[in-house]
Amino acid sequence: MLFIFGVRSTVTGSTVLEQCLCPNCGQENTLTTVFTANYFHFFFVPFFPTGKSCVITCSYCRKQYDDKYLPPPIGEAVERFRLSQKKRPAWHCCGCSFLLILFFVWLVMLIFSIIFHTSEPERPNPLEDKYKSDFEKLTTSPDCKTDTISCAIKSYLDVVVTEEMDRDAFEYFSRVDGDKVLVLMKVTDMKKIESGVRKDLVNEIGYILRNKYGFDDEKIYIGVEGKWNTVLISTPDHKELGGNFANEEYLYDFYEQKIGKNEAIIDTANIKAIEIK
Ligand SMILES: [Zn+2]
Repeated sequence: MLFIFGVRSTVTGSTVLEQCLCPNCGQENTLTTVFTANYFHFFFVPFFPTGKSCVITCSYCRKQYDDKYLPPPIGEAVERFRLSQKKRPAWHCCGCSFLLILFFVWLVMLIFSIIFHTSEPERPNPLEDKYKSDFEKLTTSPDCKTDTISCAIKSYLDVVVTEEMDRDAFEYFSRVDGDKVLVLMKVTDMKKIESGVRKDLVNEIGYILRNKYGFDDEKIYIGVEGKWNTVLISTPDHKELGGNFANEEYLYDFYEQKIGKNEAIIDTANIKAIEIK
């Protein structure tokens, strides 16, 4: 029968008790004391200690004695030997130690996975990169030769915006791509405008684009940055004009390229294949 778990023991020390008489047969120097340490095992792997025991046996009459009920001279001799004993072997709890190590390793891996997961760099978004690159180009003094739209908007806002605002600190950038127009602005003292009327800034920009440039059918993308974050967004598909927080990601659509000719052909081929089925 295979005991897959249970208690096993090992002898940790034994000695002959010198100058002690066996209470049963009266022989001297025949009592041998044996200390054992017990442990719980699982598939013979020691897991944890379960206790110690001590047995005194007479080699002459074979009588065994429990260490709890011994005449004083024998009891003292046993106690002296017990004190000289080493502690139980460390391997008696190697199973537990192994489990603890496993748990510790698991914990470390868990912590690492959490740290690396949260700090894992997000998949690069080329559209975002393009936006950031353009955002870097915001300037308080747009070049009227290379960026006429920004130049025109600045000239206009310099007149219509109240003097309370630091108009010279306004930053501008614009880009035209096919039928799409992008206007970015940064207004750091946006707080001076009530949030309810901040959207007027977008309206004013739209007004210039329509009236001065005739952009009626073009897709207009306008983003206004405040001191800390984007506060206004207006795209053909999305508007966030609350004036406090807007998601700049809607502006990335400006950089989205139309589906190429080749991709369109592939799409058509797929549709035909489905129809044949
Ligand atoms: Zn005896």
